Amino acid sequence: MFPSTMMDLPLTIQNILWRVERLFYDKPLATYDEAGNATRSTYGELVRNANRLASALAKEGVRPGDRVATFGWNTQRHLECYFAIPCMGAVLHTLNVRLFSEQLEYIINHAEDKVIFCDRSVLPILESLADKIPTVQLVVLMNQGPEPTGKLKRTVDYFEFLASGDDQYPWPTLDERAAAAMCYTSGTTGNPKGVVYSHRSTMIHSLVAALPDAVDISESDVLMYAVPMFHANAWGLPYAAAMMGASQVFPDRYLDAERIVNILEKEQVTISAGVPTVWIPVLNLLDRTGKKLPALKKVLCGGSAAPPALIAGLRRHGIHLAHAWGMTETSPLCSLSRIRSTMDGWSEDRKLEVMAKQGVVVPTVEWRIVDLDSGKELPWDGKSFGELQVRGPYITGTYYNDPTASEKFMDGWLRTGDVATIDPLGYVQLVDRTKDLVKSGGEWISSVELENLIMAHPKVLEAAVVGLPHPRWQERPVAAVVPKSEHKGDLTAEELRAYLSDKVAKWWLPDEIVFVEAIPRTSVGKFAKSQLREQLKEIAERWAATATA
Ligand code: ADP
Repeated sequence: MFPSTMMDLPLTIQNILWRVERLFYDKPLATYDEAGNATRSTYGELVRNANRLASALAKEGVRPGDRVATFGWNTQRHLECYFAIPCMGAVLHTLNVRLFSEQLEYIINHAEDKVIFCDRSVLPILESLADKIPTVQLVVLMNQGPEPTGKLKRTVDYFEFLASGDDQYPWPTLDERAAAAMCYTSGTTGNPKGVVYSHRSTMIHSLVAALPDAVDISESDVLMYAVPMFHANAWGLPYAAAMMGASQVFPDRYLDAERIVNILEKEQVTISAGVPTVWIPVLNLLDRTGKKLPALKKVLCGGSAAPPALIAGLRRHGIHLAHAWGMTETSPLCSLSRIRSTMDGWSEDRKLEVMAKQGVVVPTVEWRIVDLDSGKELPWDGKSFGELQVRGPYITGTYYNDPTASEKFMDGWLRTGDVATIDPLGYVQLVDRTKDLVKSGGEWISSVELENLIMAHPKVLEAAVVGLPHPRWQERPVAAVVPKSEHKGDLTAEELRAYLSDKVAKWWLPDEIVFVEAIPRTSVGKFAKSQLREQLKEIAERWAATATA
């Protein structure tokens, strides 16, 4: 190899800290409480606290490579942990506050967390595990909420802990390939799997996320992510925003439409982010109240498919929905859908079709689609569908300490478990998750496409489609529908079936359409299809009984 003359400076999160300290110390941060009031601060204070925190952790005996967990919502304190922990060489392990306690216990023990920073609002959950998490030597209590009951070994208040640290912490020199953070995927089968991000992967992801054709973050932006900081590093936005010097607003755990709209309005938020189930009620509120959010340039939406009706609806209010795709395993941002300059003359409907796709792959990441049976790579013709596989410098290459990991990878590519097409311009369209595709009489039905169509009906707020076991067809689709509040009782299954009949093939029509109060959600706010399948299992039992009668 002919050597380059470039400096070999490691890409570490310390560089973001260096920037915010020197360039953006006066830029504001705000954390909202239940009553809708903000506590205000700056990046300057964040850096001072990160120094003290790192110093206090070192005094506590935390060493490079040790896992230090967080168990909390979106607040400035959480962002301080995001910097102090990896920048001192330890590993930030974000724990999902909505997991079942058995999963939480498994994850804490699997990662061998030493210290946990815990929001008081979720302290009782942690206390219920007190005698099952032997590696945890200290719990630091953040934000408002109940006082400890004495079950945990040792607890300390966040500010007391800060006070035990020094103002200036001598940040160590780090290897860019060292672990910076880890996050476990929720995993519908088997145990959760740990994904470990490096400093290098986090830095590359932050740079890519900030690009104009990605999230497009600049110093002048105000970000409010309604995606929890325990989920895939809040889509990497806390680091990307800090790197660029954008202001950040934290909604804590209050993610209902009223509070979100209040924050977006008050703080003149320019970029927000969240799963579709966050934006569907926001759109409904804007439609009902006529409220305007002129500062809001864009909402980043992913985690599950953004229905075209949502994209078009937000556009009526002047809000651009940027549809993105990613996974915990992919840091997560892999693709975004944008209208290209060459599409300027296209009709609005055609543009909406593009916006509803999951977009084109971002720089540094590569993808391909592979036939589900033969394992052969498929053409980018917009028709052939197969498993989407990705690789790149911020895509996980394995799972932490997990011997079953190999089936998730193929020749150096991550198998996403998503079924997709890629069109000749490179836009990916997700057909479904492999496990959610409805297999009817040897043919596939996309639950996502049916949901999107049903959610475009003017009387429908939300809809989820699942395949249920069927004695004759193997599986048949069933739709669970939540009507808009003003249409409760006046929307019928016949009306929906008639509406769908000229939009899909007859055999795609759901066998049953049931009206429900709400669709169950996963821990990160997506439609929980396995739970829904369970709720609707009587329908399958009825089918089975009729077949044998
Ligand atoms: P979980 O498995 O708990 O949902 P992840 O957030 O890692 O955790 O989920 C990643 C998955 O979410 C992807 O594999 C894909 O199935 C789905 N997903 C993410 N973004 C989109 C999107 N824009 N459209 C459709 N599905 C999406």
